[in-house]
Formats: sequence, C-alpha cells, structure tokens
Amino acid sequence: MAADLEAEVQAIDRSLMECSAEEIAVKWLQANDLQKEVYQHLAYYVPKIYCRGPNPAPQREDMLAQHILLGPMEWYLCGEDPAFGFPKLEQANKPSHLCGRVFKVGEPTYSCRDCAVDPTCVLCMECFLGSIHREHRYRMTTSGGGGFCDCGDTEAWKEGPYCQKHELNTSETAEEEDPLVHLPEDMVARAYNIFAITFKYAVDILTWEKENELPGLEMSEKSDTYYCMLFNDEVHTYEQVIYTLQKAVNCTQKEAIGFATTVDRDGRRSVRYGDFQYCDQAKSVIVRNTSRQTKPLKVQVMHSSLVAHQSFGLKLLTWLGSVIGYSDGLRRILCQVGLQEGPDGDNSSLVDNLMLYDSKLWKGARNVYHQLFMSSLLMDLKYKKLFAIRFARNYERLQSDFMKDDHDREFSIADLSIQIFTVPSLARMLITEENLMTTIIKTFMDHLRHRDIQGRFQFERYTALQAFKFRRVQSLILDLKYVLISKPTEWSDTLREKFLEGFDAFLELLKCMQGMDPITRQVGQHIEMEPEWEAAFTLQMKLTLVISMMQDWCALDEKVLIEAYKKCLTVLMQCHSGFTDGEQPIVLSMCGHSVETIRYCVSQEKVSIHLPVSRLLAGLHVLLSKTEVAYKFPELLPLSELSPPMLIEHPLRCLVLCAQVHAGMWRRNGFSLVNQIYYYHNVKCRREMFDKDIVMLQTGVSMMDPNHFLMIMLSRFELYQIFSTPDYGKRFSTENTNKDVVQQNNTLIEEMLYLIIMIVGERFSPGIGQVNATDEIKREIIHQLSIRPMAHSELVKALPEDENRETGMESVIEEVACFKKPGLTGRGLYELKPECAKNFNLYFYHFSRAEQSKAEEAQRKLRRQNREDTALPPPALPPFCPLFASLVNILQSDVMLCIMGTILQWAVEHNGYAWSESMLQRVLHLLGMALQEEKQHLENLSEENVVTFTFTQKISRPGEAPNNSPSILAMLETLQNAPHLEVHKDMIRWILKTFNAIKKLRESSSPSPVAETEGTIMEESSRDKDKAERKRKAEIARLRREKIMAQMSEMQRHFINENKELFQQTLEELDTSTSGVNENSIFEYSSPVISDAKLTALGPEQTRVSEQRQVVMCILCQEEQEVKVNSRAMVLAAFIQRSTVLSKNRNKITPDPEKYDPLFMHPDLSCGTHTGSCGHIMHAHCWQRYFDAVQAKEQRRQQRLRVHTSYDVENGEFLCPLCECLSNTVIPLLPPPRGLFNRLDFSGQPNLAQWVKTVSQQIKALYLLQDEDCASKSEEISGNSEKMDQLQLPEGFRPNFKPKNPYSESIKEMLTTFGTATYKVGLKVHPNEEDPRVPIMCWGSCAYTIQAIERILADEDKPLFGHLPCRQDDCLTSLTRFAAAHWTVSSLSAVQGHFSTLLASLVPNEKNGNLPCILDIDMFHLLVSLVLSFPAIHCQDFSGVSLGAGDLHLFHLVTMAHTIQILLTSSTEENGMDQENANTEEEVAVLTLYKFLCQCTGSALKEISSGWHLWRNLKAGIMPFLRCSALFFHYLNGVPAPSELQVNGTNQFEHLCSYLSLPNNLTCLFQENSEVMNTLIERWCSNKEVKRYLEGKRHAISYARESNKLIDLPDDYSCLINQASNFSCPKSGGDKSRAPTLCLVCGTMLCSQSYCCQTELEGEDVGACTAHTYTCGSGVGIFLRVRECQVLFLAGKTKGCFYPPPYLDDYGETDQGLRRGNPLHLCRERFKKIQKLWQQHSITEEIGHAQEANQTLVGIDWQHL
Ligand SMILES: [Zn+2]
Ligand SMILES: [Zn+2]
Ligand SMILES: [Zn+2]
Ligand SMILES: [Zn+2]
Ligand SMILES: [Zn+2]
Ligand SMILES: [Zn+2]
Ligand SMILES: [Zn+2]
Repeated sequence: MAADLEAEVQAIDRSLMECSAEEIAVKWLQANDLQKEVYQHLAYYVPKIYCRGPNPAPQREDMLAQHILLGPMEWYLCGEDPAFGFPKLEQANKPSHLCGRVFKVGEPTYSCRDCAVDPTCVLCMECFLGSIHREHRYRMTTSGGGGFCDCGDTEAWKEGPYCQKHELNTSETAEEEDPLVHLPEDMVARAYNIFAITFKYAVDILTWEKENELPGLEMSEKSDTYYCMLFNDEVHTYEQVIYTLQKAVNCTQKEAIGFATTVDRDGRRSVRYGDFQYCDQAKSVIVRNTSRQTKPLKVQVMHSSLVAHQSFGLKLLTWLGSVIGYSDGLRRILCQVGLQEGPDGDNSSLVDNLMLYDSKLWKGARNVYHQLFMSSLLMDLKYKKLFAIRFARNYERLQSDFMKDDHDREFSIADLSIQIFTVPSLARMLITEENLMTTIIKTFMDHLRHRDIQGRFQFERYTALQAFKFRRVQSLILDLKYVLISKPTEWSDTLREKFLEGFDAFLELLKCMQGMDPITRQVGQHIEMEPEWEAAFTLQMKLTLVISMMQDWCALDEKVLIEAYKKCLTVLMQCHSGFTDGEQPIVLSMCGHSVETIRYCVSQEKVSIHLPVSRLLAGLHVLLSKTEVAYKFPELLPLSELSPPMLIEHPLRCLVLCAQVHAGMWRRNGFSLVNQIYYYHNVKCRREMFDKDIVMLQTGVSMMDPNHFLMIMLSRFELYQIFSTPDYGKRFSTENTNKDVVQQNNTLIEEMLYLIIMIVGERFSPGIGQVNATDEIKREIIHQLSIRPMAHSELVKALPEDENRETGMESVIEEVACFKKPGLTGRGLYELKPECAKNFNLYFYHFSRAEQSKAEEAQRKLRRQNREDTALPPPALPPFCPLFASLVNILQSDVMLCIMGTILQWAVEHNGYAWSESMLQRVLHLLGMALQEEKQHLENLSEENVVTFTFTQKISRPGEAPNNSPSILAMLETLQNAPHLEVHKDMIRWILKTFNAIKKLRESSSPSPVAETEGTIMEESSRDKDKAERKRKAEIARLRREKIMAQMSEMQRHFINENKELFQQTLEELDTSTSGVNENSIFEYSSPVISDAKLTALGPEQTRVSEQRQVVMCILCQEEQEVKVNSRAMVLAAFIQRSTVLSKNRNKITPDPEKYDPLFMHPDLSCGTHTGSCGHIMHAHCWQRYFDAVQAKEQRRQQRLRVHTSYDVENGEFLCPLCECLSNTVIPLLPPPRGLFNRLDFSGQPNLAQWVKTVSQQIKALYLLQDEDCASKSEEISGNSEKMDQLQLPEGFRPNFKPKNPYSESIKEMLTTFGTATYKVGLKVHPNEEDPRVPIMCWGSCAYTIQAIERILADEDKPLFGHLPCRQDDCLTSLTRFAAAHWTVSSLSAVQGHFSTLLASLVPNEKNGNLPCILDIDMFHLLVSLVLSFPAIHCQDFSGVSLGAGDLHLFHLVTMAHTIQILLTSSTEENGMDQENANTEEEVAVLTLYKFLCQCTGSALKEISSGWHLWRNLKAGIMPFLRCSALFFHYLNGVPAPSELQVNGTNQFEHLCSYLSLPNNLTCLFQENSEVMNTLIERWCSNKEVKRYLEGKRHAISYARESNKLIDLPDDYSCLINQASNFSCPKSGGDKSRAPTLCLVCGTMLCSQSYCCQTELEGEDVGACTAHTYTCGSGVGIFLRVRECQVLFLAGKTKGCFYPPPYLDDYGETDQGLRRGNPLHLCRERFKKIQKLWQQHSITEEIGHAQEANQTLVGIDWQHL
C-alpha cells in the first residue's frame, strides 16, 4: 500500500515537472480574466503538490511549487525569465536606507543609551558594529524574536541614525520620492494584477472557516482524504499532549514528542491522515482525554485539499515577501494592494482581514504574515503611516481578540504596537488624529470590569481566568507608555485638546483606583484568609511610569499644566465628596490654638493605600512651583478652592497606617498588609506612592497654620491625648498600665517625629527645594553608599529608573564616589568619597529600618576612625521654593515646641518606660534641624528681610504657668550630664555649640560676653576627659580582641570541628599560596644530611634516607597515632573520579566495562582514573563509624521525605567531616613500602641484559608451573614433570614461596577498600575485590594522578618539587605507597601474570601474543605498573638481586622504549637552521640511533639529517615522562628532591637525569645495552602496526603531548550570542535552540534543556548537556549557557551547580541572566581560574560545596539540562 502510494506520487511528480512555467505565464498574459485563470491553475495543481500523505515532504513540495506554481507567477511578473528579470529589478532599485533586519530568537540586539530615542530602538549586530554607537554607552540584549533593526530610521536616533552600510550618499537626501518611477509601466500593471490575485487568494484561504468547501476554488478530484489537525494552546503541557497523542493515535512516544514539538513550534500539526471517520475518531479521543480539568485541546478534521491550499497560501505570503525585496517599487505596489479597501467598505482591505482574523490563526501562519507586514508596510514610510491608522482604528477589536486568545503576545498582531507607537511622529499623529490615548485607556478600562459599589476596581474575589485576562490587559499599559515615551517639542491646539481628553480618561482610570482594596484593622482573631493585594499593586507598579510621564508632558506646556491641575483637583474633590458627612466635627486645642476636624481613627475605620489621584495632584502641585506657573499665573489657578485639611487627610491616614503597622497594631491582618507597606516604600513604587504622600503633606503644611496641622496629625496618630494632657507621662510611673500599649504609643510617637523630620527635611526634588535633578540623584547615591560600598548593579537597583531605564546615576557618580576594581572573585565597588559624609542624613526617607541602622553604625564607625565625635547632626539643607517656604515654621510652632519639651521632660525625669531613646534622638535631630535653619536664615540675611525664624529665643524661654517647666535649653543642659544618655552626649554637645554659634551670629555686633567663652573652655576640658576615658576603653577592647584572636588561632591549630568556616578559609589560603612549604605535610622526610651529595631516587645507588616517625591526628577523635605497619589503619578522605582532562581523543567509544582490559593505557589517555584528597586524616574505624552514621541518617531521611543530598550515599559518597569536601573512599596511610621487601644491597648486581634474561626465565618457570597446575587438576600426566625437569629453575628462585603479608588486619582491610573503590569508579562496574583488574586500576590511578599534577605544574611554570599544596603532596604520597602495597592483598599469581604481560610488551615472550605495539602504550602507565607489580615476582627471588636493581632496569627499559616511541613519531620539520657544525656528542649519538631505526623500519622512516633537531625533539618529548617518573620515584622511595629541582632554573633536564640515575646523554643507554636493545628495537619496529603507521595508514600520538586547555573564548560576549543565535537544534531540522549551551572543554554547541535533544542514557532520559558529559568528560562537564551568561558545572546525572561566568562589564560585575545588558568582556584571570578547577579535577568538589551552601541547587533536575 505504502509502496503503491509512493509510486503514484512519483508518477505525478514526473508529469508535473514536464509543465513549463513560461507557457503558463504566456497563457496568463493573454487571459481576459486573469483571476479565473490563476484560480483554476491553483485548484488543479495545489492539491497535487501539497498534502499527498500523512507527513509533509517539505523539500519535494517546495521544489514542485516553485516549478509549477510560483515559476509562472515570476515569469508573468517579469515578463521574461525571472533569472534575468529579478537581477534587473534589483539593479534599478534605489535601496532603502532602512536596515529592517527581522530578529531571530536569541539574536543579539544593541541599543545606545546616549542616542536612542527610547530603549525599544535597537540595531542588529552588523549595523551596530558599523555605527558610531559602538563608542557610546550601549546596552546589549538578546531578542525574543520578531522586531527589526532600526538602523536608518531618523526618528529612532538622536544622533547617528545610519551605520556605514546604510549611510546616505552625499548627493542623496532623505526626502521621499515615489519608488514607482523606477519601474516600467507595464511591469507596474502586471505586478498590481498578480499581487492582487495572489494576496487575496492567500488571505481568503487562510481565513476560510468551512471545512468542506473552498473559496472560489473547485474542490478537486476523487480522493476524499482528511487530516486530523491538532492545534497549539498555552493551557496544556508538553507531557499532557504527548500522553494524549500516544493514546489517541496509537503512536510511539518518540513520534508523539515529534508531533508535540511541531505543534508547539508551528501552532498546528496533522496527527492522522485518512478518511473522515478515521480522523474524527482520533479527534474525539483527544477531546475526551483533555477535557477533564481544562478546556480540551483544539482538534479539527480538515479536508486535505483545504490543508493543501493553506500550505500554499503561506508559501505565497513568503514568496511575496521575498519578491518585494527586489524592488522598493514592488513593495509599494504590494502595500497598495494590501490596504486597498475591499467591496465591503470599511475594514475590508486584505490587511484588515488578516489583522482581524489574527487570533483565530495558528502560530505558524501568524508568524508568516507578521513577517510580511514588517517587510512591506513597516518598511515603506508612506504606507507605514496608513497602516498605523488602520492599526489604531482596529485597536479596540485587536485588543479584545488578544484578550480572548491564549497565545503569548509575541505571536499576536497586537504586538506590532511597539513598532508603530514608538515612532514619535506616528504616535503624535495617532494621538491628534485618531485620539489614540483615549482609545487605549478606554479599551483598558473596558477590560477591567470588576468594580465595587463605589465604582472602584475590585480584585478581591476574582477567578483564575480573570487573573489571566488581567495579565494580558497589562500590555495595554505598555502601549500607553510607548505612546507617551517621546515627549512633544511643540504643542498644537489639537494636541493639547487630545492630550487633555486622554488625561481625562486617565483620571477616570485613577479614580477607579483611588481607595481600592480598603482594609480594616483586625482585632481579636487573626484574619482567616490573606486578601488579594497583588493585582492592585501590579496595576500601580505598571502605571507608575505612565503617571510620571503624564506629569512630564504637563510640565512641558503651561496651558496644559493649568488645565490638568484643575481637572485633577475636580476629580479629587469628587472622590472626597461626602468625606465629612455624618461625622460630628470635633475641636482640638493645644497651647492656645484650636482647630476643627473630624473624628476618624485609622485603627478603627477603613483605610486604603491606593490614592493615585491625590498623588497625581501632589505631583502637579510641585510642577506649578517648578515651572513657576504658580507665580506667573496665580489667577488662572484654583488655589483658593484648595482645602488643605482635605488634601492632607488621606495621605496622612496612609502614613499613620504604616506607623501603626510598625508599632505592631495590625499584626492580625497578616502578611498581605506587610507586603503592601513594603511595596509602598519600595523603589519600584515609591516615586508615585510614598514620596508623593510626603509631598502632599508638605503642600498642606505650607498652606495652613502649622499648629493646626500638628494637632490634626496628633489626632490621626491617636496621640492627641498624650500631648494635650499635662503630666500625662507621669501617670505611667505610678499606674501599672499595659506595657504593650505604652510600647505602642512610644513607637507611634517615634514614627510621628520621623514624619515631621521628613516633611521639613525632604526638599531635594526640583520644585520643592531649590535644587536640580542631579542634586536629587546625588543625594540618593550618597545615602546608599553610606550604608556600605556597593556594586554598580546594586546601586542601580536601589535607584528609581525612568521610562528609558535610566537612573541618571552615571553622570554624577564620579562626584560622590570612587570606584574600586574587583579581584579574582567579587565585583567592583563604589565607595563614598569622604567629603560627602557631611551630607549624611540619618533620617533619610528612603532608608528602610534595617538600612537606617546599618548606615548609622557605619557612619559612627567612620567618625570614630577619623577620631571625630560620633554625633550625626542633620546636614545643612537647601532652601525651599517660595511655594513651600512657609513650611519651615512648623519647627518653631508652639505645638511643636510643646511636643519637644514634653519629650525632653520625660527624658530628664527618666521615669521608666513612658519614654524611649529613639524618641529623644529624633527630638535632638529636630532641634538640630531648627538650629541649622535659623543659622542659614541669619547667614543669608539681607537688609530688608527681618528674621522671622527665632527658634533660639523660643527654646531659651521657660514654660509658662501652671507648668513652670524649664526651657528646652535648660533641659538639654541637664541631659548633657545624665549618665543614662552616654550615646547622645555628642549630639547634645553639638546642639549647644550650634546654639551658641547662632547666639554669636545674632549678637555679632556686640562684644561677646565672657561667660560664654568660659563655658566653651569648660566644655573643652570635659571633652578632653571624655576623650581620655574613651581611649582607655578602646585599649581594653583592643586587648580583648587580641586575646580572642589568639584563642581562635589556637583552636585552628587543633582542627576544631566547630570552626569549620574559619578552617575552610585557611584551606583556601593554603591552596592559593604558592609557597608550597611542606611544613604542614604529614610526611616529613629527614632533610638530607649529606646536602652536597648527589641525590638519587632509585637503583642500587639510591640515596638512603632514614624515615622519621610519622605521628598524625584523627580529625574525628582528636587522638594521635603513629603510622606503622602493624598499627591500626589511618586513612585520608579521598575522591576518585574518571577523568578525560588529559584526553587527546574525546570521540573514543567507551568499551564494555565488563570485558574491558585496562592493563595497557593508550597514549591518547582518553579516560583515566583520578584520585584527589582534601588531606584530612581519620582512624579507619572512626571513619567507618562516621560513614555508617551518615548512611543510617540518609536512609531515615529518604524514608521521611524524598530529598536529595549533594552526595550519593549509596555510591559510597560522603562529605569530609572537617571540610565537607565530597569524598567517595579513603586512602590508607602507609610507611614507605619498599623498605619492607628490599633486602640488603649487594654489589655486583646483574646488568640489564642479565637481569632481563633472569626475569624471563623466572616468568617462564611460573608459566610452566601454572600449566602444570592446570594440568594436574584435569588429568594425571607425568609428562609435565618432565618439562619441569627440562626447565632449569633460575638460581635462588622459589616459585612456591608465599611471602607473609606485613600489614595489620586493619590496614589490609583498607587496602582492599580503596582498591575496590578505584576499580568500581574507574571501570564503572560493581565492586568485586577478587577481580584481577583491581590492582591494575590502582596502578593506573597512581600513574594518571601523577601525570595530571605534572601537567598542572608545567602549565603554571612551577618547579617540579616543593610547590604542591600539602593536601596534594599528602595525597600523592599515600596514593603511591598504597599502589605499591596493594599487591600484598591481591592474588600473587594474578599480579605475576600482569607483570609478565606488561613486560612482554617490551620483551616479547612466546606466551603473550597480540599485545599493543609500542606506539599504543602510554609509557608512564607502563612504568608504574611494571615497577609496582615487580615485587610479586621478586619476592620469590632469593638470589640476592635487589629490588632496587629491578626498578632501575625496568625504568631504563621503559625509558628506552619511550625514546624509540618519540623518535618514531617525531614530526620534526627540518627548518634549515642546521647546526651541523657544532654537533655535540648527544647529537651525533641520537643521529646514529635514528639511522639504526631507519634501517630497522626498512627505510620507511622519514630521513632526518640534523642531529640537533632530533636531540632537541627527544629532550622536549621525553621531559614530561621524566618529570612524572621523578615524582613517582620520589613518592615511592622517599628520596628528597635535589634543591635544583625545587626552583625553575637551567639544566632541569640534567638534574632530572641525575636524580633518576640516567646518563645525561640518553642514547648512552642504548650503547651500554646494545646486545639486548638492538634485538628489541628490531622486534618493536617489525610490528605490523608500526609498519602501518610508517606507511601513513594510521595515526599515532606524538610527543610531547600538549596540555589540554579549555576552548578559546572571544573577548566580546556578543560574539558568543551571535554564534548561538546562528546555531540551530541538530535534531529538529533548522529550528532555533532555546538554550544553546557551549561545552567549554571541546567547543561543541548543544541544544540544552529541551525535549528535542533528549537522549536515553543508562535507561533514563537525559538532556543534551548530560549526554555530552558522558562522551566528552566521562560524566563531568563545564558549559557556558549562552543566553543566560552562566557557567554550568555538571557531574553525573544528579549533581550540578551554576558558576559565575568569566565575563565582566565595565563595572567589574558579571551579568548572569543577561538582565542588565551592559557590554561584557572576557576576564582572562577568571577564565583561568575555571580552567584550573578543571585541570585540578575540582569540578565535582566545587559542585559539592555549592550544593551544601545552597540546598535549592540539590533539587534542580540537572540531568535534563
Ligand atoms: Zn541592521
Ligand atoms: Zn545599518
Ligand atoms: Zn550613540
Ligand atoms: Zn579517630
Ligand atoms: Zn577534608
Ligand atoms: Zn565537550
Ligand atoms: Zn534540540
């Protein structure tokens, strides 16, 4: 069946391809009714091309469509072969100066902060790089897709609108001309025809709603096939869809994922193909399955012809888009066609039709036509305007459709508003001609219908659906913002009229918000349900910028401002109508003043935080002052209508509410209220909330009697009784009143005083005080930095942003702060300049409580450091603007003096709790402010002015009868000596001093009285005494601190567990310090007694060193113990991991671990086993107990709650009990193992040849015995013993001897434990201590770890010895000793077998065939394995040959093999720099050796005649091996390193050779041993693999292997973004990847965190990154998530963490998540640090620490990344 179908399709295809496009076009050119002709053509062919089977075949379809459908259209359009026609058009075209590049998802975009008209104006990368903005302050973001480059749009840029590419020629002007003049007339006519027909066809078919019929097309032919079409929605999850599909259409999970992915991407996908019933059945299953909780998935059964035509319709739109790219003229024609009114009149153009159908179209179709609009209508300046009008007229409909639609806004036509409204000229035109402002606001209001009885918005009981709609409707506010963002430079009368109309609508909106979400204090019980509050705040937050912009607009035109002010006042009065109704007015009186007000208690009645109308009026009022309209046209303003008590009432209530919440009176109202208060003050909202409430109070006070204001205020704070009743305070001491109430009242008094401070002191907004905008921002920054030094981004966050996302900080920051660059960690910081500290105001109104106390502490500390007194007096303030000037009088008003006097009296009487220090502090601050005020008045005194501010006089006056209280001044003098007010003394002293200074100023003409100078002297002397006292105290404190420090370092020395943090620090220090002094090492070698003697690490001449006793301490039980053979085992916490850090081949397929033979390491080092340790020592039994406890705890925890930990107990993982370093096993500590088996040193040891012969005999004997063993088991044949007789047992060899294991049971156990762990991790198999591969893995890990460390030292250019941190030194010592001892716990015969096989790779024997050739063996691994397995044979040798001799011969043998390896693979290019003349002995010798090699290889080896080159190469190639060997033998035999190897110096090679018992001229080895070596070399070279290599048929590693580095990263981060945006998912055919992620190890880009690229790994689905780590990093990975600018560490499937990226902005900060968009540049030091972590194998450890520090990291599903 399938085959039939395929054949049929192919036959049709063939016949189709025979049609000629030209012929069809000719027919069309002659047709009378072109539309009919074209439609017939389409009706016939489209269904033949598209939708012929269940799956789309895009390539075939595209090819056929181009040939039969589009081809003719192109011929028709051009009137000739389009291959000639289009290039001609292109040439004739005058290219546009607009770039218009449409952004792909994730593409970098750039905006200039200096020149962009608003932040939505962006450039593509290419244009940006060619623009002047490169040198400006720019911002970089990644596009969310859609939107286009604004290069060339003169309205978008204040400067430099063109890049180099789009620049105008000098002759050109930007003036518009009709692009049609460049087209021939007949072409215009044809274009018009064909565009009209095809565009209409596409629109009709896409908007067609009937399933069985087509628009103007005949339904074609026989086949009634259908599709079951599944549509995208935003309600169902991926998983739901996949699950449903598997059920409904019976497909595999993979297919279902494929369907779901396409549906998500394109918006629809057919999931079944067949007859109607078949499809309908699937539909009903899908609907049934998805309708349970939510609305069902949208599915439709569609006729295949309809689907076919729709596919072609989309193709046509794309085609139109590309055709108009050839010519601006064609573009204009298409625009005309699109906007031409249809037969149905208004809103019937094709463009209208599409727009209005938008919400019903699927995603893919929307994308296609949006793109077309962008490349046509929006690129043509004339039609952009016309389109804007269409868009504005349809605005309401489009928005309503968008509300009903569930797709994100980026897929909606409504999103085009950003492209239109942000063009200033269009926005202005739409406001004046289409009344756009009003339309937007009204549409917005229409969609928020929930109101309470007063007509205010109500979000209280709104449903999820409403919440969803509410989120969508917020985008309208964004539109409003776009419209307002560029402010008019000129006002026409219409603009004024329409703006004010819009302002009216806006006021209506605010009116619905005024007083919304009212709350009442909960008494008795706690509220049951937290009321909804977020919606209202969201609205407020979103509107904040709009409100500010409205004010900015008003400020630009006096007439508008006056009108707006009036309108706002009217609306406010409407809101407040009846606000005094039903309440009996009450009369308050104090100090001879009285005022009438209403009875209202915040704590008992309703109160709301939302007062946008009041606040807007406050804002406008300030503008009256700022623009001076208030002084210029007072007669036009309704100032007389203002009722100050009404203005202040609601803002005051709101502030009282905050105070009461703070006093704990609203505790039962829950968190919602706390949150609201928080946001009310928050930087996001405060500008149009809290700040404006303060302004409104300032406005009120400046217009009324301050005494009246204060009494009303006291009354609202519910404190009137306290201050109006004399001796109120005294009652507390006598009566036993409720302490809570007293406490509450205290707090309220404090809050009220704070409010007064703010009202008087906050005058840094232009219009209130005589300041400018920079003063305001400077003050904000000063106060932020008074808390502590801050990073740039922290400061930005603390400052309000304007509509252009600017804080204005950069222009002033230099004046107030110094920048400190970051180090290797941390970020750059701004520090307050010292001279700015005098501007510090402790009661700065934007401080939170925590900030205030931190700032106070910091500032006092600073003063102490500068040896100043600690008073923090109020700073001098700028004068008020005239409109607010009278407000200062509040400070000297009678009621104020009464309040201050009362509180001071309480302090003097000091009667318990009816008084607080904060209260006093605030009163002192107010006194200070008043004095400052008076001082300034006096200083600025001009002739005609009389000083009306006479505070000093008033506070000198004592109270009147009947109180007869002392004057404020007198009380201050009393308080100065009060013992309980120590902290305030400096401040009181400051006040008195200032008071005297003012007095002096006033009496400046008269001679100063004597008494006063005396006073000052007295004051001075008492101050000195004070100072001395303070000094003494400071000294005591210092001594105490020192003592504590001493104690702490003592604890440190004793590894006290409780001080982990402290300890970790020390660890880090040790780690980073390169001194590497091994003082702390646990293995102390006795320093060489014979220091000038030659030190030799191995061989019979090995330097004898007496081992010192090693005593170590257990970190768990703190007991000390000596490391001895027969004592209890001590162990080091260790972590074993597989590693590819040294790999030279990351593509190697991992072999089956069960069958893999690890005996020989390949020189590509593709996967090794690394062992690391934190160096902490425990008793083996203490560790066992600890680990058991961890295990038990973990089991309990897992049963209780399914939480993960940062470590996997089941895999043997645990955290080091001291430093919490991730570990998975322990290494036993051992004494040097060689001494135990090394017998006396004989003279007359065998030479290499003899030794090889003896060992070969011994091996042979062992094999025979083995064979005999086997044989004797199976059958009794005496023949074997004959063989035994034949064999001469080498002298002194006793194959039956079984050596006694010298180690204690506990050590043996640990040898097995660590060995098994190495085996398990290294091979990824189940533990099996019997497996003969266990010892191999141990030797391998030892070799690999040494190689890794050698590389690090070499890369860092450090000397080989003496520079390792002691934890690594200890680890290597233990690891080497362990590996050397491990054979004692393995099967002797197995180890003997390993040895003989290993040796056979160099010295062939009959038994071991098929071994790797010498090119395929890593010689260092071979050396380590040979040396460490040799004792297994040697222990049976009683001939007197020393073990050391064997070591030496093995080492020489391997070294020679390596030499040959290097010479064979040497890739030297002779570069003509021949040094023939001065040939040294070494050069001659190596050349001879090389020639011998040539001989052996049958001259296949490349001819090299320069001994100099060869020798140089050999030396370089063998260095790493020698360095590793030196480390190995050093740790094995404990011979100290010669001092020459502990520094970087010349002749390292010679020193190494000497230490390793090698001749300096390595080739001497060959000469000395020529009898064996010549044969061996011949045999090595005759190996067939070597031959293949020499013939160039295979590859081999050459030496020295270069160290691996992480990939090179570009300096500019946007290069990476660009690279990532060009990357598409490798699995879903050219789709953009959502989370492109770069492997920093190999440079592969991956499609992370996405279904499409999940693969199965060990039976689990894993994401692309995790899968990649298994091939690239054997489970460990380092990635850069490009969109997030975040480094990702992964280890295994469950571990991961994020790490700061190595990219910094100019302020020394990273930008994780790319939220700020400052340009980022590579910080090489930080990148090196990451690289070092990798090279040191510390990635897993880093993850462990990160996860311990932040538990949320544990829960992340790392494997799906
Ligand atoms: Zn561009
Ligand atoms: Zn450009
Ligand atoms: Zn610029
Ligand atoms: Zn212990
Ligand atoms: Zn540790
Ligand atoms: Zn990789
Ligand atoms: Zn993918």
